[in-house]
Amino acid sequence: MADSISPERRSRNMSAIKSKDTKPEVYLRKLLYHQGFRYSKNFSGMFGHPDIYLPKYKVAIFVHGCYWHRHSGCQYAYMPKSRVEFWQRKFDDNLHRDKLVQETLESQGIRCLIVWECTIKRMKNENSYEKKVVEIIIQFVKQSPKNCYLGNSNDLPLRYEI
Ligand SMILES: [Zn+2]
Repeated sequence: MADSISPERRSRNMSAIKSKDTKPEVYLRKLLYHQGFRYSKNFSGMFGHPDIYLPKYKVAIFVHGCYWHRHSGCQYAYMPKSRVEFWQRKFDDNLHRDKLVQETLESQGIRCLIVWECTIKRMKNENSYEKKVVEIIIQFVKQSPKNCYLGNSNDLPLRYEI
């Protein structure tokens, strides 16, 4: 006997694993949808391909992998041990492109929100953190100064990362 888990039990386990493994951008999309935000399905045609675009607020949301996009000070943004020059060039290209995308969108009046993958990981594990991040995102998107986490409420940022 390989294992004694019943088929029902196994299927439950599988779906639990599956939901935990949801891609970070899908997870965030669902979360914002539950908050009543409606996102555009045509954002893939937009420069930089944001993961989520909220047309009503002209906000583009990018879920950034900490490794590829070099999340500063993050444990996941480690430097590979070999072919360091090759990787450094690749990382520099990514950072250059991210900057270009953000500046281009901002020049079109679109605000950019970066959500790091490690933030999403923590949100999945901690309900209270998830709630707090959702509030911050709402404040940024709606530029709502109520109970502001985003510093001076008269001076809400046009670009934010969390
Ligand atoms: Zn990170």
